[in-house]
Amino acid sequence: MAQVKCIGVLTSGGDAPGMNAAIRAVTRAAIFNGMRVVGIKRGYYGLVYNEMEEFYSKSVSNIIQQGGTILKTARCKEFVTPEGRKQAFDNMRAEGIDALVVIGGDGSLSGARIFAEEYDIPIVGLPGTIDNDLGGTDSTIGYDTALNTIVEAVDKIRDTATSHERLFLVEVMGHMAGYLALNGAIASGAEAAIVPEMETEIDQLADLINHGFRKSKNSAIVLVAENPATGGALGLKQRIKEEFPEYDARVTILGHLQRGGSPTAADRILASRMGAQAITALKEGQRNVMIGIKNGELVYVPFSKATTHKHTIGSAELDIVKMLSI
Ligand code: ATP
Repeated sequence: MAQVKCIGVLTSGGDAPGMNAAIRAVTRAAIFNGMRVVGIKRGYYGLVYNEMEEFYSKSVSNIIQQGGTILKTARCKEFVTPEGRKQAFDNMRAEGIDALVVIGGDGSLSGARIFAEEYDIPIVGLPGTIDNDLGGTDSTIGYDTALNTIVEAVDKIRDTATSHERLFLVEVMGHMAGYLALNGAIASGAEAAIVPEMETEIDQLADLINHGFRKSKNSAIVLVAENPATGGALGLKQRIKEEFPEYDARVTILGHLQRGGSPTAADRILASRMGAQAITALKEGQRNVMIGIKNGELVYVPFSKATTHKHTIGSAELDIVKMLSI
């Protein structure tokens, strides 16, 4: 197997805090190992439209603490077509890039898998998404920061919810995985979490109102994962209005607030370890794997497994929220 001499690094899909720490780690670990580094702008768009620049150690100075991504990110419909990927491959080769590190979510890693199979290119992925919805890894880069942002917001909402004796529905991201809703609820002491893994969980709302809020509580906070099918928190508010008209439910949608901010120490460390490991993986001849973390150890996860959503949230996890909010 030919030795990797030049890597291209890109961030793709939704941005996540810690992506910069990952770019820094990939860049510096590659340079440390004698490789050239090319920064590719706007995800796959930069590959297709040739927006790339040579990266040096100083290119990634002073970014470990910054949210967002200095490489920018985008969604690129051209890359989904064989013609777009051919253009991307030609540009990549013209630049002398012989391996890629792709930082992104399941869509980005699906694109990486297809590209790697089509052109026999070594690609290593890093899980960059706040949703924590990738298979084969306990956590993703950005998840811990987003969780902390949610907890900070819910703590504030609790003050007004208590003062006005109101029910608040706080919508968080994660339409494929309810980790932000579940663990945000546990960490903020919320009364319930509505997650996509448990469709019937919506009925917990009636249970909550009848047996919890009505009897002993003067306020309640429910964390609701965004859900295009049910309308998320707004859909739930509508249901409450119809079924429990006496309740004054308010909705707060945290939205893109969850994507921003300086990454937590946990995310910086995760991104740094994973970024360095991506270069080790390429040196070892690994290809078409995502770097994951399992029980504190870095592991290689085939793209096919990484892009299969994990379903580890069940009634036992939700029972913790319920039991602790009596
Ligand atoms: P997030 O989890 O934040 O949504 P993501 O990585 O899943 O991030 P997507 O928008 O799904 O974000 O994908 C990012 C990009 O990856 C797409 O715009 C497209 O360029 C590429 N991509 C996604 N799926 C494919 C595919 N099946 N084939 C080729 N490229 C793809």
